[in-house]
Amino acid sequence: MYFNRCFLLFNGCLLLNLSAKDFSARPIKSGKYKTNESMGDIQIKKSPKVYDVVIVGSGAGGGMAGYVLANAGVKVLMLEAGPYFDPAKHSSQFKFPYESPRRGASTKARSFGDFDAAFGGWELDGEPYTKKDGTQFDWFRSRMLGGRTNHWGRISLRFGPQDFQPNDGVSERWPITYDEVKPYYDKVDRLIGIYGTAEGLENEPDGIFLPPPKPRLPELFIMKGAAKAGVKVIPGRGSVLTEALPGNKDRGACFFCNQCNRSCKVYADFSASSCLVIPALKTGNLELISNAMVREVITDKNGVATGVSYVNKEDMQEYQVSGKTIVLGASACESARIMLNSKSAAFPNGLANSSNLVGKYLQDSTGASQGGMLPQLMDRKRYNEDGAGSVHIYGPWMEDNKKLDFPRGYHIEFGGGMSMPGYGFGGGVSKLNGTLPGRDGKMKEGGGYGAALKDDYRRFYGTTFGMAGRGVGMARIDNYCEIDPRVVDKFGIPVLRFHYKWNNDEINQAKHMQETFTRIIHEMGAIPTSQPHGPEDNWGLEAPGKIIHEVGTVRMGNDQKKSVLNKWCQAHECKNLFVVDGAPTVQQSDKNATWTILALSMRTAEYILEQRKQQNI
Ligand SMILES: Cc1cc2nc3c(=O)[nH]c(=O)nc-3n(C[C@H](O)[C@H](O)[C@H](O)COP(=O)(O)OP(=O)(O)OC[C@H]3O[C@@H](n4cnc5c(N)ncnc54)[C@H](O)[C@@H]3O)c2cc1C
Ligand code: SF4
Repeated sequence: MYFNRCFLLFNGCLLLNLSAKDFSARPIKSGKYKTNESMGDIQIKKSPKVYDVVIVGSGAGGGMAGYVLANAGVKVLMLEAGPYFDPAKHSSQFKFPYESPRRGASTKARSFGDFDAAFGGWELDGEPYTKKDGTQFDWFRSRMLGGRTNHWGRISLRFGPQDFQPNDGVSERWPITYDEVKPYYDKVDRLIGIYGTAEGLENEPDGIFLPPPKPRLPELFIMKGAAKAGVKVIPGRGSVLTEALPGNKDRGACFFCNQCNRSCKVYADFSASSCLVIPALKTGNLELISNAMVREVITDKNGVATGVSYVNKEDMQEYQVSGKTIVLGASACESARIMLNSKSAAFPNGLANSSNLVGKYLQDSTGASQGGMLPQLMDRKRYNEDGAGSVHIYGPWMEDNKKLDFPRGYHIEFGGGMSMPGYGFGGGVSKLNGTLPGRDGKMKEGGGYGAALKDDYRRFYGTTFGMAGRGVGMARIDNYCEIDPRVVDKFGIPVLRFHYKWNNDEINQAKHMQETFTRIIHEMGAIPTSQPHGPEDNWGLEAPGKIIHEVGTVRMGNDQKKSVLNKWCQAHECKNLFVVDGAPTVQQSDKNATWTILALSMRTAEYILEQRKQQNI
């Protein structure tokens, strides 16, 4: 916020005297949220302590920076907008479906069902965002210690050499190469643990792998069908400890319950909470304030960041903390929001934003999917086929774009098997009626109830599978988030307004995905169960934001006019400000971004340590 600041020391607090006039520029749209006018005089409580580093956010980016810095002896304060969450204590991993009060039905605050470890969703009460010019962007936020890493899919992929330095004449190049990031990917693999196999593929770099889980029965059919269709399939790569992690006594090994999305009580999968922040707290060098919603970064008249202001969600009071270095890891869009809201005399256009690029080049992955069922597997024997809660098999992008009508590519995530029945409708078995004749040879119309439905479950359970393409969304300046000048959230913080459109690059990619899926399903001898897609629905291409891989809003680069950060994720214009989430991404790849966020955050944290030694920050 750009306040005309008038601080008066009062009872150990700073009084910020704001009149209604100060707020009148931002009337809220619906009147639903607490208006700035109603806040009256705000008291800002300022802590006298100066931390070495203040980190905003505790997800993949913030969590890794906190871990590295605290372990190096740096005094860190971490501010997290959500509550404390420890999978060992708070996970719903072992709950039975009947324990769900809503029988698993999702709510706004539990988009993926009752037991999913996401405190958040597409909509948060009192924290709106808006969209511009009829465009669409769905923004998923998890407000909790560890952020979205408590329930993410744990598919853990390195960007390849051509992802950092593309040669297609269309994609922009990063200011760094794969070789520069490789040592950090290696360290992340060793620190966190990842399964996979060495395949020697040029743009799908191998890591330091634990053994992968075996394919489940429908996945064996997928592998066979894909081979016939000319689509390469390899063992999956996931951050789950299929064996004990060498040198780490705090984490157990996976016992294959397939509930990673609920988070793991024995810490056998990667969550930033269990694997980074909780260990960092144990060093005694990291202090955590949860339920702290950061409003802005404070800067002095020379444009040096001096601290952060936040709203304590418990008492709704405004606080300020001071730090010598500020690290933003609030997620790509939220870090851009904080920077845009951090207006001051030194930065009237938002923090470090002379280039006007903060919020620009927003990118989400493309996504399209299909499912099917294998009649060969009806009435099959029951046994434990749960597996790990991440991918068992994976289809890397191997095609030649010169022969295609879109740049870059996508990978395929496959799934299928007979996991323990969950809540809900058992994978939509009732909908399979009408696909095949019943035991009596007659075709049912669909649905069912009572004994006949139970029999259908026995017949069909474990026959279904799915495949989902996740591909490159091209970086474009006209896909962006900005501050909506008319709307504030319940904390009085101006909210984001999104402007995002796919174009033919992404739509043609989705068409290619659908054609590939159809070929594989045919070669498997399976029956497609998804609705067919075509040009009328962009070939099933999900709306921007839906794949929850958003990156790119505070891009790095060598040219100060064309980027906000340098190649160390340090702001060109504010040397003690760093961004460690997905925001620094120049151009995303078809690989999901989290392993790269972790590697780059580790690299930036080590750079901060070096810069501190040299007394540059
Ligand atoms: C269902 C699902 C499946 C996914 N699967 C995969 C996958 O398989 N592979 C993959 O690579 N990626 C996957 N992702 C994406 C992955 O979760 C993100 O890339 C990753 O979590 C990003 O890390 P981050 O630190 O940038 O943000 P987050 O994990 O979102 O963490 C940001 C943290 O900052 C906090 N915060 C936000 N605003 C503020 C504020 N103003 N003040 C203080 N704190 C704040 C938030 O509460 C949150 O805890 C998936 C995501 C979802 C939701
Ligand atoms: S599948 Fe393994 S890692 Fe995932 S929740 Fe179960 S035991 Fe933990």
